[in-house]
Amino acid sequence: MKIKEKKTVYADNAATTAMSDAAVAAMLPFMKDVYGNPSSLHTAGQAAKEALESARARIAARLNAEPREIYFTSGGSEADNQAIRSAAEVGEKRGRKHIVSTAFEHHAVLHTLKKLERQGFEVTYLDVHENGIVTAKQVADAIRPDTALVTVMFANNEIGTVQPIAEIGAVCREKGVTFHTDAVQAVGHIPVDVRAQNIDMLSLSAHKFHGPKGIGALFVRRGLPLMTFIEGGAQERGRRAGTENLAAIAAMAAALDEACDGMTETSEKLFAMTDRLIDGLGKIEHSKLNGDRRNRLPNIVNMCFEGIEGESLLLLLDDKGICASSGSACTSGSLDPSHVLLALGLPHEVAHGSLRLSLSDMNTQADVDAILAAVPPVVEYLRNMSPVWEALQKGEKPHLI
Ligand SMILES: *Cc1c(COP(=O)(O)O)cnc(C)c1O
Repeated sequence: MKIKEKKTVYADNAATTAMSDAAVAAMLPFMKDVYGNPSSLHTAGQAAKEALESARARIAARLNAEPREIYFTSGGSEADNQAIRSAAEVGEKRGRKHIVSTAFEHHAVLHTLKKLERQGFEVTYLDVHENGIVTAKQVADAIRPDTALVTVMFANNEIGTVQPIAEIGAVCREKGVTFHTDAVQAVGHIPVDVRAQNIDMLSLSAHKFHGPKGIGALFVRRGLPLMTFIEGGAQERGRRAGTENLAAIAAMAAALDEACDGMTETSEKLFAMTDRLIDGLGKIEHSKLNGDRRNRLPNIVNMCFEGIEGESLLLLLDDKGICASSGSACTSGSLDPSHVLLALGLPHEVAHGSLRLSLSDMNTQADVDAILAAVPPVVEYLRNMSPVWEALQKGEKPHLI
C-alpha cells in the first residue's frame, strides 16, 4: 500500500474519512464470533439481533429519535433515494406532484429528482444566496397546495454552509408538507436533533464520521408512511429486505458515539484550523472564500483562485503529499465546474479554480502549516503558465474576484 509509505496530509474528509480505532474494534466481533443472522430464532441469531437493536437504539438516541424510526441503508445515497422516492409515491397518491429542493444538493438527491421530473413531477430548485444559504422564507414562498415534499440539505458537502434547518422544518410542519434533509455532512459534526429541528426524514452515512463505507441510515418520523424499497424478508420493519450488515452497523454506532461525545472539543479545534486556512489562503491575491464564514461546518474550507484550473492545482498538491479536492468526489474527473459553485452565482472561469480542503480530528496544526506552505507557490506556478492570468495581468480581461 503506497499511500501508507508516503507521508500525506489527508484533507479530503468530506469525500470520506479514515475509520477510527473504536469503529474498527466494534466491527471485529461480528466478523468472527457473533456471526448469527439476526432473523434466526436460535441463540446465535438472538445475540446478533440484540447487537443490531442496541446499535439502532444508540444511533436513534444521538438524533433524539426513537429506535423504530431508524432504517439501516447501504449509505447516504440509498437513504436519499428512498426518502425522496417514498415521499413522491405517497404524494402522488394524494394528487401532489410538486417537490421543493435547492440547486446545490448532492447528486444522490438531484439525480433522483431529475428522474421524478421525467415521470411527471415538477421540482422547484431554490436559488442559493451568494453565501451558500437558503432561507426558510424561500421555502415558504415555494410551497404550493400540491407540494409533496421539501428536501433541503443540512450542510453542503462542497462549501460547508449550514442551512437554517429548524426554521425550514417549522415552515413545512405549518404547511403540512413532508420535510427531508440530507444530513450526511452534518451528523457527527454538528448538533442534530430531529425533534427540535422539525425533521420528518433524514439521511446519514457512517463513512463521513470515521465509520465504515457502505452503511448509513434513514430516519423516518413515526406515523409517516414509508414505501418498501427492497422486497424480500421482514428486515427493517419490512421496508428494506436483506440480512443486515451487522459489523458495519455496530461500527457506525461506535463511530457516532465517539463523534458526538467529542463534538464540542473537535469542532473548536477544527474551527481554529480552518480559520487559519481561510486567513492564510485569503492572502493570495484574487482569491475568495466560497460559502459563509460564520454559518459553516467546522471542517470544510472552499476557496477560488482566479486564473487557474482546480484540477491542475489538485494534481500538483498531490505531488507534494496533500490530498484535497476541487469539488465533490463525484464531479472530480469531469471537467465541468461544480454545480454547487455555479449555484452560488460564480462565473464558470472562477468556479474552475476551486479548492476544497476538508479536515477531521485526525488532522494536526502541522497539516495546516503544510497546506499553507504548499498552496501559494503552486497557485503562483500555475498562474505563471496561465494565458488567462496573463490576460488578466495585462488588463485585457477584468478581474472577477
Ligand atoms: C457523501 C454524501 C452523500 C452520499 O453518501 P454515500 O454514503 O457515499 O452514499 C450524500 N450526501 C452528501 C451531502 C454527502 O456528502
